[in-house]
Amino acid sequence: MANKERKIRPSIKREKVSAFDYQHYNHRFSCDDCSHFDSSTEKCTLGYPTEPHRKAQQTHEYSMSGTMAFCRSHEID
Ligand code: SF4
Repeated sequence: MANKERKIRPSIKREKVSAFDYQHYNHRFSCDDCSHFDSSTEKCTLGYPTEPHRKAQQTHEYSMSGTMAFCRSHEID
């Protein structure tokens, strides 16, 4: 039996965002805008980690790489 090494990959995908879209639209895709975000505890009521999807983190990642992480469960009432 061959000894296969498992590839380690990040579990959260970052996606490219067009500079035009970033500058011209009012984005609402961070935890801070989400119906599932409890601002008193700064946690997701669905139990997901919020760090990659907080506005400050998304803005930082975008400024460094032109990409950011989006949550597939994001909802706005
Ligand atoms: S569902 Fe996603 S975007 Fe909404 S609070 Fe939870 S982790 Fe953040």
